[in-house]
Amino acid sequence: MSDLSIEALRTENMRLREENKRLTTQARVFETEVNDLKTLDTHAEWQRLDKLLAEAEAAASMVSYLRPEVLAFALLMEQQLRANDHKPGWKNDAPVVLMDRLHEEAAELHEALKQGDYREHIALEAADVANFAMMIADVCGCLGEKP
Ligand SMILES: [Mg+2]
Repeated sequence: MSDLSIEALRTENMRLREENKRLTTQARVFETEVNDLKTLDTHAEWQRLDKLLAEAEAAASMVSYLRPEVLAFALLMEQQLRANDHKPGWKNDAPVVLMDRLHEEAAELHEALKQGDYREHIALEAADVANFAMMIADVCGCLGEKP
């Protein structure tokens, strides 16, 4: 600062006071933000996000691993299972009972084919057959918790 007049010093002093006020306000904002961060359990949050990311990566990996036909058919199977979610489920059924149901579903599929039913009906009957095969494998303990 080359101008050392009283007026220039006053002006500079005012500017510095304003700057000081601005920086003090900013510092209070930062302090509040830091205190907010301290109250977060950031480690647990990171663990939660890591778990979600790992699950998403596993799901994406599984989807890319499956053949398109298998994925499409698995979705049909799930659709049929969900349509029957109001029923008790298969976990307590004996394999031979499920096998009888599989034969019934196979007959329904056969009938749909003979009748030349529309493709969606054939697909859903095929998914029913597959679902009973899956249930048999499940109650026989052949399926793990995760693929
Ligand atoms: Mg059926």
